[in-house]
Amino acid sequence: MEHDAIRNLEGRREMLRGIASQIWGFAEIKNQEYRSAALLKQTLRDEGFSVTENTAGLETAFIGEYGAGKPVIAFLGEYDALPGLSQEPCLTYKKPVVEGGSGHGCCHHVLGTGALGAAIAVKEHLERTGGAGTVRYYGCPAEEGGRGKQVMAMAGAFQDVDAAITWHSTDDNNIWSMNFLATKGGVFHFKGITAAAPGQSVIGRSALEAVELMSVGANYLRAHLEPDCFINYAVVNAGGVAPNVIPADASVSYLLRAKTRKTVIQTFRRLVEVAQGAALMSGTQMTYEAEFGTSELIPNRALERLVYEKFKEVGPTPYTEKDLAYARELRKSLPPGAEEMTFQALRMLYGDVAEELIPQIRGKEINDILYPYLPIEKSKYGSTDVCDVSWFTPVVQVTAACYAKDTPGHCWQVTTQGQADFCYSGMMTAAKVMALSGIELLENPEALRQVREEFEQRTSGRSYAEECCE
Ligand SMILES: [Zn+2]
Repeated sequence: MEHDAIRNLEGRREMLRGIASQIWGFAEIKNQEYRSAALLKQTLRDEGFSVTENTAGLETAFIGEYGAGKPVIAFLGEYDALPGLSQEPCLTYKKPVVEGGSGHGCCHHVLGTGALGAAIAVKEHLERTGGAGTVRYYGCPAEEGGRGKQVMAMAGAFQDVDAAITWHSTDDNNIWSMNFLATKGGVFHFKGITAAAPGQSVIGRSALEAVELMSVGANYLRAHLEPDCFINYAVVNAGGVAPNVIPADASVSYLLRAKTRKTVIQTFRRLVEVAQGAALMSGTQMTYEAEFGTSELIPNRALERLVYEKFKEVGPTPYTEKDLAYARELRKSLPPGAEEMTFQALRMLYGDVAEELIPQIRGKEINDILYPYLPIEKSKYGSTDVCDVSWFTPVVQVTAACYAKDTPGHCWQVTTQGQADFCYSGMMTAAKVMALSGIELLENPEALRQVREEFEQRTSGRSYAEECCE
């Protein structure tokens, strides 16, 4: 018999789509998600949740809660958009709504709303059964570059949470069992002495040369990095436009990624030394603003397996001919080699299993299979502040296919597909998987005990404050 949570969510399809669609339209970037947060908070209140606002001092963070006592099951929602990714809905070519405006180029409108749907379905299940426990919805701002969850975690917001469930829209159906790269970055500013070139070159000190020398040093540093350690940079102030003026100010932004937070912190220290060297060589002054970054994930295989079983029960999203027709056209706009990139990532993460998966998805408009569950130790070449939460409570991340297969992240193609029927169908699939998982954790003490036991084992003797905070 169909689970009451599934029926409940099916009945709310249009309501949830309406909320997500509004958030898509708001397209608010990090820490400015006022209207999005207000809509989600109002919905929670209307549904009988109590809401606390300004979690961890963040204006657009909040927690909705229903029930009482243990266990406490949390759903994490995001709703921030990305700058520069404004785009008209359901097109196959680039056309911003507002030139240079923001847009949901990572589909956090469905992320936050799908998690909301799961929280409501679990709440209604608790209400119907009179079951014990608490369900919470965490409104988490600024996933993109603002690390809202991390700030909330460090403020103790997840202290009494027994397990947290979240998801992300992608182009496949999966449990993200792989790890994520830890990050740390910083903006380095060089101050020189401006002078006319070549007339006054003797007294000039070029900040741009310092940036260039830092690049040379950083590129040499690359040869001495741990595997899976990456250095990326962008010159954010090149110092000027006229070659006959020696630039006095120049800045470069660096982002480091590595398998562990420890490694990324050590590497960042070396990068600072490289910057100091560049300043010495160029006769300039260097200052920098370090960015905190995010950590690697503490996986929880027991929780991942539990959620995977629920995904098998729900099954991947069925798509209509209309869905496939749009996805087929959209795929023509993807960069050449996009499908090969998907296969490469699968081979990197799944090893031999990738060779079984690839023929099943090759050439498909939308990925309609559920990948097999594998506890993957390797890291995906991405980062998220969900990882920081995993140091405080067990976390699992579901993915559901919401875009045409091989759509890369953070591009106008994501924004435009954010209003497609299939994106919302994917959201419903994720909401169902998360709701069933939450109910299982509330009603199956033995399953939750295993999740908690694994969490205690993996975090024993480890400290977020010591390993991750620099
Ligand atoms: Zn995202």
